[in-house]
Amino acid sequence: MKVLKAGYEILSNISDGGIDELKHIEKIGRVCYKSEDKISEDGESAKRFVKMLIDRGHEAMIEHSSLTVKFIVDRGVSHELVRHRIASFAQESTRYCNYSNDKFGNEISVIDVTNGMKLDGKMSTMSSYDIANVLKEWNEAMMDAERHYLKMIELGATSQIARSVLPNSTKTEITITANYREWRNFFKLRVAKTAHPQMREVTVPLLKELKNRIPVVFDDIELEEK
Ligand SMILES: Cc1cc2nc3c(=O)[nH]c(=O)nc-3n(C[C@H](O)[C@H](O)[C@H](O)COP(=O)(O)OP(=O)(O)OC[C@H]3O[C@@H](n4cnc5c(N)ncnc54)[C@H](O)[C@@H]3O)c2cc1C
Repeated sequence: MKVLKAGYEILSNISDGGIDELKHIEKIGRVCYKSEDKISEDGESAKRFVKMLIDRGHEAMIEHSSLTVKFIVDRGVSHELVRHRIASFAQESTRYCNYSNDKFGNEISVIDVTNGMKLDGKMSTMSSYDIANVLKEWNEAMMDAERHYLKMIELGATSQIARSVLPNSTKTEITITANYREWRNFFKLRVAKTAHPQMREVTVPLLKELKNRIPVVFDDIELEEK
């Protein structure tokens, strides 16, 4: 059994300073106001324009954009990700992936819960002794699940049937494409302290990176790291 850390990878190319992305929205949005004459080459007008759109709630204009991110998370978190309806998805299939095959190392992969526990308001105050006991229990459950999964396949079950014993902690890769309006809605819900800690484990650093790489678009979304 492999125990992996959760993570993400931005698959879209983002231009230097994120300026091309803003210029694209500006070019489209200025059609509404017939203010194309205000476009400046350096991208400063684009920054001002996109900020104005967001401040006014004219967010339909920022739908003219696309961002693809691959998340490496557990199946519990991925169940939450796929609830976002204005997005497109591609997810590692537990029907078609047979983890007993050599290509998967004949073992299942699970996402480590340690970081999630640290971000969990209640668990973060537990003693290291109690935390170690919880982790030990989790680890045993994962090993048991793997043993049953591999045994079912050895006995002739297909992966799509044996998957029924895979735990929520099973590692999955899920690629999401959405426009900036949808990502904004996503981040407002999924970086908030009310979001699941293992969701926040990936969304908080992702939002932080996007704030650095694309000006204006995500600036007003609060980022509470703890
Ligand atoms: C803290 C938290 C707890 C949650 N707990 C639960 C739970 O216990 N059980 C559960 O089932 N789910 C739960 N969810 C999931 C939640 O109900 C939503 O399915 C999920 O957050 C997607 O949100 P959304 O609808 O805004 O996003 P999207 O589906 O991405 O939609 C984006 C936006 O498009 C608009 N939109 C989309 N579809 C429609 C529509 N049909 N009609 C009108 N407007 C639309 C809305 O403005 C929406 O905000 C929880 C989510 C969070 C963040």
